[in-house]
Amino acid sequence: MRYLLPNKKQYKVNLHAHTNISDGELSPLEIKELYKKNGYSAVAFTDHDVLMTHNDLSDDSFIALNGYELKINEGGVEHAGYKYKSYHLNLIAKDESIDTQVCFNPDRITDEARRFIPFVKHDGEIYREEYSADGVNDIINRAHAAGFLIHYNHPVWCKNNYSDLDGIHGMDGVELINTNSLVIKHIPEDTDAIYAGFLERGEYPYPLACDDNHNQHGTSDSFGAFNMVFCDSLSYHSIIDALQEQSTYASAGPIIKALWAENGIVHIETENTVCVHFLTATRKAKRVYDETGLDMASFRVDGDYGYVRIVLTDKDGNHAYTRAYGVDEIL
Ligand SMILES: [Zn+2]
Ligand SMILES: [Zn+2]
Repeated sequence: MRYLLPNKKQYKVNLHAHTNISDGELSPLEIKELYKKNGYSAVAFTDHDVLMTHNDLSDDSFIALNGYELKINEGGVEHAGYKYKSYHLNLIAKDESIDTQVCFNPDRITDEARRFIPFVKHDGEIYREEYSADGVNDIINRAHAAGFLIHYNHPVWCKNNYSDLDGIHGMDGVELINTNSLVIKHIPEDTDAIYAGFLERGEYPYPLACDDNHNQHGTSDSFGAFNMVFCDSLSYHSIIDALQEQSTYASAGPIIKALWAENGIVHIETENTVCVHFLTATRKAKRVYDETGLDMASFRVDGDYGYVRIVLTDKDGNHAYTRAYGVDEIL
């Protein structure tokens, strides 16, 4: 028997959040208290364009991950409005001591975040981003070299399609669900189409379900999505390690209690789930449905399936997504 999600404790985390450092409404401390109260063990603070560390918020039962969100607008930094495409990328520091940002461009910084320009530590270069796969790859490479994970945010709202993904290499995680897009911008940002595009090209980022909360309308864009990370204990490093090992799944509702493989069969134990889809790299798939609720589902895997990934649905239509497990991990 092999565990596909490790037999460890699960911690609920929101890996994309804004505060009043940029265009969010609440302070970092208020975000911590709100999320702790709602069962979260960690939040990644990802304000726009400026990296501020929040290590003072971390304690035995809560971890503040440090990060920031970059955007690359089609047509350059000057454009305003929502007519153009954009790439939005979150950089998450892999160590709490990292406080120096890469790809710093003060011209890109807007609104409240401009107050923090004098306090930003950066690598000394004023960076000019470019809307292209090479432009994204350059940011990915600089982020990795400086000790950051890099996440691809709300591709549906950004109007990104397959052609925008072509040639992107090394993305660590991809948002399949973004609560702010769904609730505030009324965009159907609960889809695995872009994620499937990465898999088709042989890239295997982990799935993300994030709030991207700004709290400008109360808590309506909070607590809609989360990642579960699997680790023995809660610390900055245990969460980062779990992400790097891809010991995580993304959800807006359904819960995975256990996921393992035995004798060529994948088994999943679920909660708050009515439908389980097993998808593969081929056209082979399986759907298990029970409107009264599903505790278990299983799927026999063939050597030529390439990979297996699982999409769960709850009674309200919310999804959860696993990563793609190569058949060599299963058989
Ligand atoms: Zn964004
Ligand atoms: Zn954001």
